[in-house]
Amino acid sequence: MMLGTEAPFLDRRAALWRLAFRVAFRSIILGCAFGLLLAPVLYHFQLVSGPLRETMTLIVILSWLFAGMMSGACVFSMGEVIRDLARSRAEFERLSRTDSLSGLSNRRAFNDALDQVSSDASLAILDIDHFKQINDRFGHQAGDKVIRDVASVLRTVVGERGFVARLGGEEFGLILSGGGIAQRLALVERARNRVACETMRVAGVSLNVTVSAGIAEITPDLRAEMVYAGADRALYRAKATGRNCVVHAQNLVEDEAAILPA
Ligand code: GH3
Ligand code: MG
Ligand code: MG
Repeated sequence: MMLGTEAPFLDRRAALWRLAFRVAFRSIILGCAFGLLLAPVLYHFQLVSGPLRETMTLIVILSWLFAGMMSGACVFSMGEVIRDLARSRAEFERLSRTDSLSGLSNRRAFNDALDQVSSDASLAILDIDHFKQINDRFGHQAGDKVIRDVASVLRTVVGERGFVARLGGEEFGLILSGGGIAQRLALVERARNRVACETMRVAGVSLNVTVSAGIAEITPDLRAEMVYAGADRALYRAKATGRNCVVHAQNLVEDEAAILPA
């Protein structure tokens, strides 16, 4: 039986029906062949009575009834169980990679996505400014609503051009691939600007929030943690510079070089 090779297709009901029919058909053929070969032997030893022709007809009918229907039904119900398991597994996998508050990918999915890119890409970390004050003034639920609204703006702005995740708290991560550094920087700047322009309704009041962002380039010679650390340093600088701005880690290096003695 080819269940091993066909099992991956059991997530589709049509494939399951096809498999059940195929197995049932093979069981009928096997049942008939086995019965028809066995009948003359049983006759020879006088273990069955009645005409041989009738016995053979009975074997064929029983093969259809039992071998066919039983095996088909067994395969079908087994397939249903496998389908259910496959569905729960896919759902579990999706949930384990999704942030439940924002609906974005979570840090785990973000780290996996980061491992997939090695060059021609940027990593950006965006952090909501003075978020604690929002929680303190309007309550934790209002803070949650702000996180969801910012997530929605980022998802819209980045779209297909990158990967967006909530890394935790009021911090988001972007992975932007292709298009050149200037374009990727411009996209993060657009995201920052769109968040700043978005008026959010929380706890019955209209609110404008801002984000600060740090960006670093993903290069083949840098490990993911190093890229992450670079973006984090740039974010730190963005906060220190007055918030609501985007800083690229490359500019940090240039700034540091400028203040070092020649
Ligand atoms: P900064 O501009 O320097 O980033 O200041 P901040 O107030 O945004 O940052 P800080 O780290 O001081 O505060 C972040 C707050 O976010 C503290 C924490 O209670 C809150 N927080 C973390 N996770 C959640 C969450 O899931 N929901 C809500 N509502 N608040 C959260
Ligand atoms: Mg913050
Ligand atoms: Mg933070």
